[in-house]
Amino acid sequence: MFGVYAPGRGVAQLTFDGLYALQHRGQESAGMAVGDGEAITVVKDMGLVTTVFDERTVSCLPGHLAIGHTRYSTTGASTWRNAQPVYRAAAGAGFALGHNGNLTNTAELAARAGMLPGVVASDSDLVAELLAGASAFAGDPAEPRPHALEEAVAEVLPLLAGAFSFVMLDASHLLGVRDPKGLRPLCLGRLGKDEDPEGWVLASETPALDIVGADFVRELEPGELVVIDEDGVRTRQLFSEAQVDPRLCIFEFVYFARPDSRLYGREVHGARRRMGELLATQAPVDADLVMGVPESGVPAAEGFARASGIPYGQGLVKNRYIGRTFITPDQTARAEGVRRKLNPLRDNIDGKRIVVVDDSIVRGTTQRAVVRMLREAGARQVHLRISSPPLMWPCFYGIDIPSHEELIAAQSSIPQIEEYLGVDSLAYLSLDNLVAAIDAPGAGFCTACLTGVYPVPVPAAQADAGAAAPSPPDTARA
Ligand code: SF4
Repeated sequence: MFGVYAPGRGVAQLTFDGLYALQHRGQESAGMAVGDGEAITVVKDMGLVTTVFDERTVSCLPGHLAIGHTRYSTTGASTWRNAQPVYRAAAGAGFALGHNGNLTNTAELAARAGMLPGVVASDSDLVAELLAGASAFAGDPAEPRPHALEEAVAEVLPLLAGAFSFVMLDASHLLGVRDPKGLRPLCLGRLGKDEDPEGWVLASETPALDIVGADFVRELEPGELVVIDEDGVRTRQLFSEAQVDPRLCIFEFVYFARPDSRLYGREVHGARRRMGELLATQAPVDADLVMGVPESGVPAAEGFARASGIPYGQGLVKNRYIGRTFITPDQTARAEGVRRKLNPLRDNIDGKRIVVVDDSIVRGTTQRAVVRMLREAGARQVHLRISSPPLMWPCFYGIDIPSHEELIAAQSSIPQIEEYLGVDSLAYLSLDNLVAAIDAPGAGFCTACLTGVYPVPVPAAQADAGAAAPSPPDTARA
């Protein structure tokens, strides 16, 4: 997600650039909403940022504030209707929002709002409905309240449970907000000089600030709302002290965020490299070559090589025009995606004992295909090292970590997984070492998919499914 308030600048172009830097966070649809002080224009469609927007479209979107969104679906179908930003006309005004995350109390919210099941297409749509129905928008449409959206947000967002970062705008105000656990990231940047700002930027990850030339100011606090308009940046806390409890998704560090992102003041690439170093110490192996599964496994592989003294080399070439397999919406597309995405470098592999480092195993689809490729290319041994603990529980907070039935670590022992994947050995990084590798003392994390401890209660049916998960395997086993 991206947002910008910058009078005199081409905000649609800045939003395009910001979304381009954030393409990895969602590849199913892209969109932006631009405000010019009087009206809002929304353009969105299915596909990548560069598919949805061309130069002509961007140049036809004048305004001084904008939000943008790229989507991948964890709830709600991958359809145009669910593309974001979501727009609503509310009395005498309109607003648009982009949502990163997943709510856990949608049924309760829909019931509270008197909505029939199926009326809203997604949890983001539901939030838009709730905001449009807030008392701040209930007055005379001929005299809309200037801060109606801010008031509606303050009224509605404390009712939400789950993971949510939002960017929103009406015709004149840009808003950004994080849930009280700060599960999903959102940061603030500044265009121009500290003493004379030219504008303000909101972004899910810091590389989107870099690409538009904005300076990082800070991460939004969990539960914080910022409102940006002609008077600058205002901030307020929407939740009580007891509700605010930072639990940033630890998977942002493992896999999801770009390596050049900074979260909790730490660069993700360095954290991933340290994960590899600790993994080499925790689960050593005799081998000739260390390689990473492109791209998020590569920094950990470099760390593993450095700590183990085994040479690092490239074993797989990635087709850079293929998207991330993890976030394509169905299993067939995922399996085909692996074959299209990766190809082995035979001369580097033939006759060698290889350590393959990857960031995580969800279903085992990627790793099984990779191991088969390496064997076919002549690898004598293949040892798989995973720079995170086993994924045992589903995610209900907006990352597509699926049900127990699909999670290979929840269904099988390590010897069974080794056999399925065709590896000589398999070992995972322990949770203690994962947290040590991130090296952000005092920082709180969500680790629910690794530990089953959910920081925000999940609905009963989902919790029952969670309780059925087996104990995690011994991660230290080499
Ligand atoms: S359950 Fe896992 S993927 Fe989901 S927010 Fe928590 S740490 Fe992240």
